Amino acid sequence: MSDEQAPVLEAVDVTVHYPVHRARGEIVHALENASLRLHPGRTVALVGESGSGKSTFARTLALAQEPTSGRVLLGGEPASARGRRARRAYAGRVQMVLQDPFGSLNPLHRVRYLLERPLRLHGAVTDREDLERRLRALLERVRLTPPERFLDAFPHELSGGQRQRVAIARALAVEPEVLLGDELVTMLDVSIRLEILNLLAALRDEEHLAMLYITHDIAGARYFADEIAVMYAGEIVEYGTAEDVTQTPAHPYTRLLLDSTPDPDRMEFLAGRRTGGLDGMAPDAAEDDYGEPPDLVHPPTGCRFHPRCPLARPSCSSEAPPRVDVTERHWAACVLLLDPDEDDAHGHTTTREMTP
Ligand code: SF4
Repeated sequence: MSDEQAPVLEAVDVTVHYPVHRARGEIVHALENASLRLHPGRTVALVGESGSGKSTFARTLALAQEPTSGRVLLGGEPASARGRRARRAYAGRVQMVLQDPFGSLNPLHRVRYLLERPLRLHGAVTDREDLERRLRALLERVRLTPPERFLDAFPHELSGGQRQRVAIARALAVEPEVLLGDELVTMLDVSIRLEILNLLAALRDEEHLAMLYITHDIAGARYFADEIAVMYAGEIVEYGTAEDVTQTPAHPYTRLLLDSTPDPDRMEFLAGRRTGGLDGMAPDAAEDDYGEPPDLVHPPTGCRFHPRCPLARPSCSSEAPPRVDVTERHWAACVLLLDPDEDDAHGHTTTREMTP
C-alpha cells in the first residue's frame, strides 16, 4: 500500500493449486490470485483463520512452494530458487521464522552452533575472533544478554520466548531484507508475546526490515502492522491500513473476525455504530455460529464466503464479487460495496455506509 519506497518483495497474482488425490483428480485450491507488497521498514499482517491459505502464501514468498501461476519478485526481479546457489542467495535476502521454535531449533545443538551455521554458510565470517564477535552481536540484537549466558545453552534449557529469540537471531544472521513470520508468537505465553512483538517492531524500525506477520489475531495485528490483508479460503478479501481495516472494516468476514476479538477501542466503536443503526450486520452476529471454513478441494462457487455470510445475496453463490476501492488505501471484495441499499438473502437490510 505504501509507495514511499519500492517494494523489496512482491507477490503478483499468485495462485497455488496442489493435488491431494491424483487418481480422483482432486486439487486443493489453496491460494487464488493473491498479490502483496512488502516495503522496507514496514509490516504487512496476513490475517485469517486456520486453513485460509496464509501459510501457503508465506511458503510461496519464501520460494518453498512453487506457485501454479503468478510471480514472486525480489527487488523487482523474478525470484528463483532453482539450484543450490540460487536458493542460498534467496535465503540470504528472505528469511522465515516459524511458529514453533522448539520444532525449528535442532535440540541436539547448542545456540552457538545454531547461529554459527548460517553465519558460515553465507560466508560472513572471516576468522574465529570475528565469529565470536558476530555471535555475541546477534544475541544482543535479540536482547539475549549477557550473550555468554546463552551461547552454550541447548534449546531445551531456554524458555519459549528465549527460544523464539534464538530463532529470530538465526534468521537475522544472514542480514536479510525480508522477514516472514508465520504465527511466530502463537505458541508463547500471552505475557511473552508483547515482548517478542516489541522486539520485532524495533528490528523492523532500526534495521529497516520488510516484514510479513502471519496471524489469526486481528486485534494484535492492528497494533503491530502498518497494513492488514485479510484472507478467507485462499483469497485476500480485504486490504488496507491497519487502522482502516480494524476501525472501518468493509468485508463481512473481517467484521466477524473483529467481533470475535475483544478490543476495547473497537468495542466502543461498534457500540457507537450499532446505536446509530449504521451497521447492517445483525447485532448478535459475533455470537452466531456461521459454520466451518470451506473445503478447498471443492471451494464454494461465487463468493467463497457466501455459505457463512450473514449478509449474502442470492447472486453471491454464483458471482465472484469484484474488488471495490473503499478509499484510496483500502479495498474489499464484496458486492455490498457496489450497492449497499438492497436487501440481502437473509432479509437483513444493508443500508449503511461501509466506511463511516
Ligand atoms: Fe457476503 Fe456476498 Fe459480500 Fe460475499 S459478496 S461477503 S457473500 S455479501
